[in-house]
Amino acid sequence: MTMICSICGSSDLSIFCTAEDRLQIRPGVVYEVWCCSACGYGWTEPSPADEELAEFYPPTYLGDFEKVIEEYLSGRLAGTSSWKMETEKAELVEKYVQSGRLLDIGCGEGKFLWSLDPKRWQRVGIDLNQPLIEAARNKIPDLDLHVGTIDDEVLEEEGYDVITFWHALEHIPDPLRALARTARLLRPGGLAFISLPKVESLQAQWFRRHWYAFGDVPRHLHHFSSTSLKLLLSQVGLAFIEEVFFSKAVNFHCWKHSMRSWSRERFRSQLPYILFKPALHLLPLLEALTGRQGVSTLIARKGESRGTLETFSPDSV
Ligand SMILES: [Zn+2]
Repeated sequence: MTMICSICGSSDLSIFCTAEDRLQIRPGVVYEVWCCSACGYGWTEPSPADEELAEFYPPTYLGDFEKVIEEYLSGRLAGTSSWKMETEKAELVEKYVQSGRLLDIGCGEGKFLWSLDPKRWQRVGIDLNQPLIEAARNKIPDLDLHVGTIDDEVLEEEGYDVITFWHALEHIPDPLRALARTARLLRPGGLAFISLPKVESLQAQWFRRHWYAFGDVPRHLHHFSSTSLKLLLSQVGLAFIEEVFFSKAVNFHCWKHSMRSWSRERFRSQLPYILFKPALHLLPLLEALTGRQGVSTLIARKGESRGTLETFSPDSV
């Protein structure tokens, strides 16, 4: 049977590289990253079945969440680079919308939601990780947090001004279905922010299996290009507005860890990494000039008039 791209239907597919899970949940398993030459969409093979996914997310996956909550409550989180990554997300959202009801998909312990001003934002988050959600609910009760997925019935249709996916969409088994649900959950004129690593980036092309984002296989089930994500957005009736490259910190982190991995495996030494490290500060400039950034955020809007999506159903695409 001929394989075809699940986004654009092309059969021009090939293996981009192999990759290994940095957490080695299943030691020794080597994954393949397949890519479509027509739209740039990539995916991981073998891809875990839905019932196996939880196994790949140990409680420590996002670090020591109890410590992070404690640091937030004591005020020690403010001023750290980790907190800056959250406040820059809030600044990006507020360039477009300054208040309303915001839903964060894959919210973890809710760190991004904490960075939003509670006087202006009604802050809702959902995540499959029950321990994180419960810990945050107990300690920070003014957030509206839920255990579940974007399909959960607790989420209100046409109930949100903004929906955010901060490095979440590539983890969701059916991204088309998730974006169709996003379109239904947004109020008319509402905005979706989708931030993710891009497979056509200079980082991915240069480092291949050493690229930091590929170390998150098989949790990264999908590896999007701008083109493939825009195709998905158009299929669910969300109008693409803009692609922005705003997180210097996240992008630099990705370059740094990719180069360290390459240096260690290729030369069995940290020395090449140390020698090349100063150049890491110039590479983001090259990315900006070529538009092939490692990490990007795409912003899309739901149509203003009610009923825009009435004719859409996931089965029709
Ligand atoms: Zn394709």
